[in-house]
Amino acid sequence: MLIAHPAAGYLATKGALALGLGRGRGLSDRTLLAVGVAASVLPDADLLYFYTIDRQQHLHYGYWTHIPAFWAVVLGLAAGVCWVRHIRNGAPVIALVALNLFLHFVLDTVAGGMRWLYPFSSRGFALVRVPAEHGHWFLNFIWHWTFILELLLWAAALYVLARSWRRRKRAAVPLGSSEAATQERGTAE
Ligand SMILES: [Zn+2]
Repeated sequence: MLIAHPAAGYLATKGALALGLGRGRGLSDRTLLAVGVAASVLPDADLLYFYTIDRQQHLHYGYWTHIPAFWAVVLGLAAGVCWVRHIRNGAPVIALVALNLFLHFVLDTVAGGMRWLYPFSSRGFALVRVPAEHGHWFLNFIWHWTFILELLLWAAALYVLARSWRRRKRAAVPLGSSEAATQERGTAE
């Protein structure tokens, strides 16, 4: 996936928060939303290494940043530390990071090549293979039908974002202000 990760991360995190994840732990929804969206794009930070140091020698799906087993171990260790040290906020943050990392890997399985079985197998799993029909890999992805899925995820994320902005704006209007205005008009008449 090229552009869908932050949109999918936003939708997944909004859904998790709506279900009550992190409620009563002293963490604001805004903080958790930022954590969720950051985790949804975190694996692709390896593109920096891919372009600068590795000079495109290996597929970035093979780096540890895209290896589910690596993150399972890291998240398991983090959960253990939070449990031993009684860190109250740890569980929702770890759950949110896990949700978004694994959502990233599921989306990368559509047309990428995720090594779900590593270290037991280095086979890259992908639902569809994007043919190299254009000059640049970027164009191959943009002109492939899977890009429609990415656009749909963005459309859904923007819809949810606009709806939550509208709600927040409505909530910011002082309670009873419309009735007060009506009463004021009545008195004037
Ligand atoms: Zn990725």
